[in-house]
Amino acid sequence: MPTIENIEVFSFTLPFAGLFRTSRGTVGSAASGRPIVLTKLTASDGTVGWGEGSPSHTWSPETRESVVSVLSDHFVPAVIGKSLADLDGLHAAMNGAIAPLWGLSMPIARAAIDVAAHDALARHYGVPLLDLLGHRRADRARLSWTVTGSSQAEVEESLHDAKERGYRSCNIKVGGSMDWDVQLCEMVRSAFPDGFLWADANGGFPPHEARQRLHTLVAAGVDLLEQPAAPDRPDVSARIAAESPIPVALDESISGPVPLLAMLKQEALTAYTFKVTRTGGLWPAHMCAALADTAGLMLVCSGLTECSVAFAASIHLSAAWGITHPCALNGPQFLTDDIAAKSLPREGDAVLVTDDPGLGIEVDEDKVRHLSAQEA
Ligand SMILES: [Mg+2]
Repeated sequence: MPTIENIEVFSFTLPFAGLFRTSRGTVGSAASGRPIVLTKLTASDGTVGWGEGSPSHTWSPETRESVVSVLSDHFVPAVIGKSLADLDGLHAAMNGAIAPLWGLSMPIARAAIDVAAHDALARHYGVPLLDLLGHRRADRARLSWTVTGSSQAEVEESLHDAKERGYRSCNIKVGGSMDWDVQLCEMVRSAFPDGFLWADANGGFPPHEARQRLHTLVAAGVDLLEQPAAPDRPDVSARIAAESPIPVALDESISGPVPLLAMLKQEALTAYTFKVTRTGGLWPAHMCAALADTAGLMLVCSGLTECSVAFAASIHLSAAWGITHPCALNGPQFLTDDIAAKSLPREGDAVLVTDDPGLGIEVDEDKVRHLSAQEA
């Protein structure tokens, strides 16, 4: 079995369309662009794999600078020379390099190693990534449109764009003004009466208003409520989940299998949103999906507005688990440029997994090197 011979780290910014805000503030704008961190892993047999760990520092506590330094100074040295097939051992080595908190340390940085190792290992075997995972419940995943805008005109324009681009379901950001949340739901329901409506509060429900906000959103036609309470308030999430007639998902709260077990024990969720990078890569995300599936939770998938690498990893994991609800993977919606010379094929709002090995994409390495050198 080949060993890991070299890992290069690249950091650059991709252009971002529009303004993406949550109850915690701006997570992406045309002015800021989207910071991307990629890894290129080369194995001893020459096989190459690509990984991504692009953080969003207003969403979770890792920054572009921390991801690059954690990779360069700690995780990369810890995994050089390790067997490509020992994915569990790679995570143990990274936990050895930086002490874990809640099961895993620095999940977004480690995802960049984990995804690259999965891509290279699947390419070594000549199989698509979902076959490496040993799950093939579907051959595609559908996408959800992230509605943007802070006025009726802006939201209507966003919904128009969604339809133009073949989307059939939307996810919205809630947790600010209750009147606005209701208005937003009404506009989405009017544009997509049969679509799946996913409302994400990003922890924005004050505990004393949580009950009222839940029932207001349910009456407005929401199908799934995500992260109503702050990530460190599973007690509040449990109260909402117990009362809720619709599934209540968590994502910020769950950075790997240990937090998921703790949240399950507290009955803080009835749905689980897996995010490949938030949970430290495909190995722990696959484990989380298995735990959540076994516990009987609804499984949904989202991401952190990533480029083609983490996007493809998320599509493979979603297809592996047969996720039927549209995935909130909005990289293709917000990023107006990408680094893939070949992406996963699209059919309307669906993204297809092919029989191509690994992630099934081809990274334009010259472009990655050029963009990275520009910002060095
Ligand atoms: Mg979320």
